[in-house]
Amino acid sequence: MNAPSPDMADALVLFGASGDLAYKKIFPSLQALVRRGRLDVPVIGVARSDWTLEQLRARVRASLAEHGGIDAAACARLLERLRYVAGDYADPATFAALQRELAGAQRPMHYLAIPPALFTGVIEQLAASGCARGARVLVEKPFGRDQASAAALNAVLLRHFDETQVYRIDHYLGKAPVHNLLQLRFGNALLEPLWSRTYIDSVQITMAEAFGVAGRGAFYDATGTVRDVVQNHLFQLLCHLAMEPPARIDSASIRDEKVKVLRAVRTLDAADLVRGQVEGYRTEPGVAAGSTTETFAALRLWIDNWRWQGVPFHIRAGKSLPITCTEVLVRLRRAPSAYAHADAPVNHVRLRISPDVTLALGANTISPLDDTQVVPVEMLFSHCPGAGEMDAYERVLGDAAHGDQTLFARVDYVEEAWRIVDPALAAATPVHAYAPLSWGPVEAAALAPPLGWHAPRI
Ligand code: NDP
Repeated sequence: MNAPSPDMADALVLFGASGDLAYKKIFPSLQALVRRGRLDVPVIGVARSDWTLEQLRARVRASLAEHGGIDAAACARLLERLRYVAGDYADPATFAALQRELAGAQRPMHYLAIPPALFTGVIEQLAASGCARGARVLVEKPFGRDQASAAALNAVLLRHFDETQVYRIDHYLGKAPVHNLLQLRFGNALLEPLWSRTYIDSVQITMAEAFGVAGRGAFYDATGTVRDVVQNHLFQLLCHLAMEPPARIDSASIRDEKVKVLRAVRTLDAADLVRGQVEGYRTEPGVAAGSTTETFAALRLWIDNWRWQGVPFHIRAGKSLPITCTEVLVRLRRAPSAYAHADAPVNHVRLRISPDVTLALGANTISPLDDTQVVPVEMLFSHCPGAGEMDAYERVLGDAAHGDQTLFARVDYVEEAWRIVDPALAAATPVHAYAPLSWGPVEAAALAPPLGWHAPRI
C-alpha cells in the first residue's frame, strides 16, 4: 500500500453505480487500483435502483468476471469497502443518506458517472447537503455540447468547488501511448530538432473504427463524431503533438502548455470541415429517420504560433471505416538535394496509438538489388499492450484519488476546445453519404493534405 498522502481521497462516491460505464470500466479499474495498493478507502455507490448492498456486490462480481477477471484477494477487499445508497438524485434525502454513509470523511471524491443532463442537479445537491465540503468532483464526458453549455456547467461547478477540486475526465489521456507522447518528445533529443515548421510539412491524426454505433444509436445520434472524439480525445493528441516543453513536470506547467496550443489554433472554418454519414446509419435503433448527424469527420486545422505557422494539421475520424486504428503521421519536407527523388516518398514519423503502439521513422535507401532504385524503409519500434499494463480508467481514477490533475481537462482548456469547433458545428454543413468500410465520403478529398490522406494498415 502506498503511504497515504495528504492529497489522497478518503472516500470514493460513485454516482451511476448501477450504470453501464460502472459495469464495463469502473469496477474493473477499482479492482486493479486495490490490487496495486493505490486505493483503500470506502467506495459508496449511489443510484436509483432499489438494491441491497449484497445486490451491488453481486453486480460488481459479475462486472469483474465479464471484464478482465476476478482477482480473489483484490475483489474481496473491494467488496468489503463497498457501501450503497439507493435514491433519486433529485431527492435531498438521497444526499442526507450519503452524508451519513460518508461518516466524517474529510476528502471524499464524488465521481459523476451519470448522464450529463444530471450533472448540474447532483452538483447543487452535493453543495446543499454539505457533501461538497473538502471534496473533489470527477465529471464524466461529454463536458457540454458547445461552448455555451460547457461554460454554464463550469459556472455551476466553480460556484461550489475550487478549480483544484474539479477533475474533468477524458479517459483518452489515461491511455499509455497518449500519455507517453510527452516522454517521447521531451525525454529524447531525437525528434525535437525536426519538430517544427522548418522540417515538418503536415501532421495527420486518424482515428478509424471498423464498427458502427454498436447499440448506442440514441447517444451517438445526439452527439456525432466531432463531439464524440474530435473536440476531446483528438484535440488532446493534437496538444501533445504540438505543445512546447513544459518548464516543470507538474500538472500546472503541463496544462498551461496545452492551453497555449489551443489558444493558437484558429477557429475552424466551416470550409475546413467535411462531415460524412455511413449508408444504413439512419435505420440503426435509436437514430432519427432523417438524421443529419455525422459518423465521419475530416478537419483541417491551423496553429498560428512560431513553431507551427503554415503547417496543416489534419484529423480524420469515423465509424465503419476499413480498420480500427488510431495513428499519427508526421510528414517531413523533402530534402533539398539531388538524392531526394521527387517521386520517392518524403520521410515521416509514424506514431500508432492503437491497437498496437508503434514508433516508426520512414526514410529512403537504395535497393540492395538495384542501385538505381530508391526504396522506402521504416525503422520501427512496436509493442502490443499486454497483461499487467494499466488501463486508461485505472490511471485516471488513481490519479484523481491521489490529487494529481495532470490528466484532466482544465476549465480554460475545455472552453478553448469548444471555441475552435463551435461555429463550424453551428453552420450545419452538409453531411455526405459514404459506403461502409470505405475511407469516408469522396468530398473529403478536397481537404486532403499536400501528399494525400494517409490510410493506416494493420
Ligand atoms: P447509464 O444510463 O447506463 O447509467 C446511468 C446511471 O445513473 C445509473 O446508475 C442510473 O441509476 C443513474 N441514474 C439515472 N437517473 C437517476 C436519478 N434520477 N436518480 C438516481 N440515479 C439515477 O449511463 P452510462 O453508465 O452509460 O454513462 C454514464 C456517464 O459515462 C455518461 O456521462 C456517459 O456519457 C459517460 N460515458 C459512458 C460510456 C459507456 O460506454 N457507457 C463511455 C464513456 C463515457 P439506475 O440505473 O439505478 O436508475
